[in-house]
Amino acid sequence: MGSCRLLQEQAQPAICAAVVKADAYGLDAAEIAPVLAKAGCQHFFVAHLEEGVTLRRILGSGATIAVLHGPLAGTEADFIAHDLVPVLNSLDQISRWSATAVVSGERLPAILQVDTGMARFGLSEADVNILIEDQQRLNALDLQLVMSHLACADEPDHPANTMQLDLFQQMGSILPCRRMSLAASSGIFLGPEYHFDFVRPGAALYGIAPQEGRPNPMRPVIRLQGKVVQIRDVPANTPVGYGHTARTTTSSRLATVAVGYADGFLRSLSGRGGAWFNGSHLPIVGRVSMDSIILDATALPDGSLLPGALVDLIGPDRDLDALARDAGTIGYELLTSLGTRYHRQCIHS
Ligand SMILES: *Cc1c(COP(=O)(O)O)cnc(C)c1O
Repeated sequence: MGSCRLLQEQAQPAICAAVVKADAYGLDAAEIAPVLAKAGCQHFFVAHLEEGVTLRRILGSGATIAVLHGPLAGTEADFIAHDLVPVLNSLDQISRWSATAVVSGERLPAILQVDTGMARFGLSEADVNILIEDQQRLNALDLQLVMSHLACADEPDHPANTMQLDLFQQMGSILPCRRMSLAASSGIFLGPEYHFDFVRPGAALYGIAPQEGRPNPMRPVIRLQGKVVQIRDVPANTPVGYGHTARTTTSSRLATVAVGYADGFLRSLSGRGGAWFNGSHLPIVGRVSMDSIILDATALPDGSLLPGALVDLIGPDRDLDALARDAGTIGYELLTSLGTRYHRQCIHS
């Protein structure tokens, strides 16, 4: 996977972990995680315990799998059984995971998350001070990493970036841990001072642009196609689709494609953007239905687009981020919304 190597080069000598939560951002972790492992990735992050259990089954033993949400009360034994490393986000999670370690008679691996300015996950500054004053709290644990997460890394000039960086360095200098990690995809491109020992890209691995309004350094890795199921020729002034929100202005050829909002092709794309076929743009006409969209194929030569043909919704002519913008969202949401009716195929290269 080219994206993986580019990120590794960009971040080195920091180690590149892979974030494969939400089924590898909707792309199928069972296909993607082994490809990443084969490309040399040894560290994986998921959000939920259940995702970690599934990923352990996919990858077998060896790789490190960290669970971002940490151990919720009562799940500690599952972490041990499936060899998962919890990200500890609170003093309570630290004490419960420590108690588990004491009972198990082993120093259990753990990652500690600190909140440097997002108010979402991790220990607050006050929590960190409590921990520093009473470092015994960490004695039963093998603290492998201290991590934090940037709130505004996709905007390189946002002042929050350097504020979070400073606070993270300060917290890191007083916490008893050898290794640190701050950057996800966007943070990798903020510069080497953000790399520390580990970087944790997700989105960039899947081709999403790491920084808004800048050229995308990542290779597009996704192609999304829809199948034409019907073609019809209609006269001018024909109302099209639900609500008759659109009418043809001339005699037109319309192509109905079997992708709709139930497939994560968002209804906000109604009348916006389109699909591509052999280099031609086919605009979406009218509303996106649950199972279909209607394209204007009038510009294509006779007989070139037939039922059964595949049109590109994301592909060489149409990048994921542009489609997301048309839908009023971001690439992350678009990918993770892709439904289960697509036939997914992983092409190794
Ligand atoms: C999702 C997530 C990542 C990956 O973020 P991307 O922007 O997709 O690279 C990294 N770290 C944490 C804590 C996350 O929640």
